[in-house]
Amino acid sequence: MSFSSDHDVTIVGGGPVGLAAALALQETGLSVAVLERAPSAVWAEPQFDGREIALTYHARSFLERLGAWQHIPDSVICPLKEARVETGVHNHPLIFEADRPAGAEGEPLGWLVSNNMIRRALYAEAATRSGISLLSGTGVETVRQDGNGATVHARGATALSLKSQLVIGADGRFSPTRRRAGIGAVIHDFERVMMVCRMAHDLPHHNVALQWFAEGQTIALLPVNGHASSLVLTLPAADIRRLMDAEQGAFNAEIMQRVGNRMGAMRLVSSRHAYPLKCVYAHRFTARRLALLGDAAVGMHPITAHGFNLGLRGAETLATEVGAAFESGRDIGGSDVLRRFERRHRAATMPLFAATNGIATLYTHDAAPFRLLRSVGLRVADSLPPFKTAVTAMLMDRSPLSGMAER
Ligand SMILES: Cc1cc2nc3c(=O)[nH]c(=O)nc-3n(C[C@H](O)[C@H](O)[C@H](O)COP(=O)(O)OP(=O)(O)OC[C@H]3O[C@@H](n4cnc5c(N)ncnc54)[C@H](O)[C@@H]3O)c2cc1C
Repeated sequence: MSFSSDHDVTIVGGGPVGLAAALALQETGLSVAVLERAPSAVWAEPQFDGREIALTYHARSFLERLGAWQHIPDSVICPLKEARVETGVHNHPLIFEADRPAGAEGEPLGWLVSNNMIRRALYAEAATRSGISLLSGTGVETVRQDGNGATVHARGATALSLKSQLVIGADGRFSPTRRRAGIGAVIHDFERVMMVCRMAHDLPHHNVALQWFAEGQTIALLPVNGHASSLVLTLPAADIRRLMDAEQGAFNAEIMQRVGNRMGAMRLVSSRHAYPLKCVYAHRFTARRLALLGDAAVGMHPITAHGFNLGLRGAETLATEVGAAFESGRDIGGSDVLRRFERRHRAATMPLFAATNGIATLYTHDAAPFRLLRSVGLRVADSLPPFKTAVTAMLMDRSPLSGMAER
């Protein structure tokens, strides 16, 4: 059976950014359809995928404004008090922490929440909104645009055809929507794989995140509530394959040795997940009646923990521009609206994308000049308070929300 239905906006991909965009657009008064190929049970209750997402102040405020933050239980939100970056064996850490008055408890740098809990919260809120249609088990096959509108053809239990004024591609870093629209992308393959999992440990983490660049490996330990951390280990693909299959006792022993026994005894307490490190920056974020959001537009290296934060920023920018057009009776899929979104989102993402790739390259190569540069770099950076203040401000991102409709 095939049928047609009309919404103002159709979003391809119900990941965290697609759902956030749906909420933000619905608040401007638009009707939105979200098409997600995962079945409804998986979409509503996504399982742990290993990612712990570090959220900035701006991202948290936006999630609060969307009504999603309220669905995240306090018990799974871990405040991050300090971030330490170390390199080599004779470590001189570069430490980032929020300013604090003498003797007072500092504010957090940000908050860590697992990706599946964020996705659940966004879905739970979207499911309460009458202006949002959530279509699960629906894989988008084609998008056709003309001067009057766009039609999305999808296949699930039935064939589906949806008309709207604007289509958003939020279908991840290898976005089929981006490819079908003929939009190319810069793809940087770091030829490394990142393995993530939760490890319980005997010693407390004191809410400190550690990023450690050693020869042949990069390790991060991100605090989660209780005596546990998220282990983020970057290695060549063959080493990660071996570790993914390693028996638990041998795995624990190898990880303790890799982290220099700094957390005492460690035990694997979750499933293990592997992510190949390929970063993507789309040549364009828009085409006729089409905007790209989230990893489909900018798929960041996770080292600076900003992919989702920037995805939320894009959803906010697009909703602001589209909402303003809707309010003034203009075409919400018009090229002027999309151009303004693209200009603003490019300015917000390009410098950080380039800086992140530079840092990731410097810290994943072990040739002598790279080792020297990173060791000297950390010492110099640590002795430059204005640099540390600027990076801390970027990590925390306290910039105000833009003028979306108030709830
Ligand atoms: C290990 C790791 C750690 C990270 N840590 C951080 C961090 O600390 N801070 C941070 O800000 N970011 C972090 N990120 C980045 C963050 O996870 C991503 O930026 C974010 O999840 C992207 O969300 P998205 O909705 O754009 O894409 P996705 O999560 O990839 O969602 C895309 C959705 O589209 C659906 N889809 C695809 N094709 C179709 C189709 N044809 N039809 C219908 N549906 C389709 C998919 O099923 C999926 O649900 C990390 C990433 C990794 C890998």
